[in-house]
Amino acid sequence: MTATEHLAEPTLARPAIAARQLFIGGRWVEAVDGGRTEIVDPSTTEVITTVAEAGAADIDAAVQAARAAAPAWAALPARERARILNRVSLLMRERADELVATESIDVGKPVSLCRPVDVTTAANQYEYYAGLAQAIEGSTRSTDFPALAYTLREPVGVVAAITPFNFPLILSSTKLAPALAAGNTVVHKPADIAPLSALLMGEIFAEAGVPDGVVNIVSGLGPVAGDALLNHSGIDKIAFTGSTAVGRHAAAVAGEALVPITLELGGNAAQIIFEDADLDKAIGSAIKAFVFNTGQFCMAGPRLLVHSSLYETVLGILSQAVPGVPLGDPFDPETVIGPMAAEQHRTKAEGFIAQARAEGGRIVTGGGRPDLPGYFVEPTVIADLPNDSRVVQDEVFGPLLTVQPFDTEEEAIAMANSTAYGLASGLVTENVARAHRVAAQLDAGIVWVNDWAMLDPTMPFGGVKSSGHGREYGPEALDAYTRTKSVLVSLA
Ligand code: NAD
Repeated sequence: MTATEHLAEPTLARPAIAARQLFIGGRWVEAVDGGRTEIVDPSTTEVITTVAEAGAADIDAAVQAARAAAPAWAALPARERARILNRVSLLMRERADELVATESIDVGKPVSLCRPVDVTTAANQYEYYAGLAQAIEGSTRSTDFPALAYTLREPVGVVAAITPFNFPLILSSTKLAPALAAGNTVVHKPADIAPLSALLMGEIFAEAGVPDGVVNIVSGLGPVAGDALLNHSGIDKIAFTGSTAVGRHAAAVAGEALVPITLELGGNAAQIIFEDADLDKAIGSAIKAFVFNTGQFCMAGPRLLVHSSLYETVLGILSQAVPGVPLGDPFDPETVIGPMAAEQHRTKAEGFIAQARAEGGRIVTGGGRPDLPGYFVEPTVIADLPNDSRVVQDEVFGPLLTVQPFDTEEEAIAMANSTAYGLASGLVTENVARAHRVAAQLDAGIVWVNDWAMLDPTMPFGGVKSSGHGREYGPEALDAYTRTKSVLVSLA
């Protein structure tokens, strides 16, 4: 996901994680009702720690703290906000081992992925938006009035940032970095099953000099803490990343309250291998697109569309190559595929494999459960399913790849665009004209040619159709965290 050079990963020990409290108004506090959530290491299934479980009273305290801190943070010169965000980025890099180990034990993410992807991307985002903080500006306009007319871009106020389990650090920084750069304060609710890196960031924010109350971090359950946050009248903006089902609920709440919302929701991307593809690139990209983060990523490419002239060749290569991708302990620096993040996610992935078998799908490789203690699923390649199979159409969110043949460019584009989702899409071709022609016709917020999952803070990211609306990353993200005011001063 980043172009960062992949250095050899040092061996990290499994960390002992202290019990965590809520971070509200710059203080660490217990939930008012004393509730706690157990956090499980998905690669051992052991409880590793507990975190405070926020209820409505805690959410209210967090929103009040964010409201109290908002005027001073918005009034701070942008250069000062930028300095603080740069310190956040620096401290993340200094404490990278701790962040890597925390993210890995919480989500089962291989350390080989956590450092170059999760920690680096998140630190880059604070740096990038620190750089943009002083570039948030209005403009003067020429009007028919004898007036000085100009626009101001102001922070929206208090942002509710709700994030899912699969890339906790990145998805939190994707919201917090632009929101803070633009002068907003934040109440952040991370995923129930993966709150540890977000809570660790509370220490980093305090150490970096983020004023008390500017960032509040409240772990808790979605239908309790998440819902209380969505419904709180002190929220000025909702930034939600998660499933399409919960996103619809969030959008309905925001619609009723007339609160602006950005929605980064589910995905089910297709990758098209054309007959003129470089096969090495195609296979590398296809494997990355479905095993990366054990398939638990919104921009995964679980649907591979292969020109019929290459169909059996590609299946043959995948059947040999996929079992060789190292799977196992996320703390082993060689591991590429870790466990699913929780038991219910493995159950769902295994349900899709069973359904594929029942529908006559050909299991080309995988299909089983590795003999390991954690929530592992074998990376599985399935051929010959019809395009209307739920296994093809639904978001699987696990290490499964369906492979389907096509004959013409038009057919491939129609198949790629045939699901409810539209987050990412991709193609592999050596034909430059085809690359641009097809990219323009894919219904997706981002298109990759000849590789997968190239994400950069400078490039906008977001969905179409049921994958959501609004854009994160790039200068575009700042639009979601600012509002424009017109001022006309009569000169008559
Ligand atoms: P989820 O929708 O179950 O949960 C997301 C967040 O919403 C969590 O913090 C959860 O606690 C909270 N939540 C749950 N119910 C809620 C409610 N009733 N009210 C308020 N908040 C509630 O998603 P998940 O299982 O954690 O994550 C996987 C999903 O996230 C996938 O669909 C994936 O595609 C999507 N995702 C999208 C992007 C993107 O950028 N588009 C990125 C990562 C993940």
